[in-house]
Amino acid sequence: MRVKVNRDACQGNGRCAAVSPEIFQLDELGYNIAGEFAITEEAGEAAFRGAAECPERAITVFFS
Ligand code: SF4
Repeated sequence: MRVKVNRDACQGNGRCAAVSPEIFQLDELGYNIAGEFAITEEAGEAAFRGAAECPERAITVFFS
């Protein structure tokens, strides 16, 4: 599985990291610092949870 964060869309409210800190990390201003990265299938639920929490729809979780 892979996670992709559209950093241009991120508004820095930190909601993804609040619900799934094991997947999403923020910079000092609260913006998601990730680009695209691989995760295990076991981490998928947490990744989807963080993506669902993002009001900007900046996070995509997909199978590759
Ligand atoms: S929830 Fe969305 S807008 Fe907020 S920090 Fe995470 S990626 Fe950015």
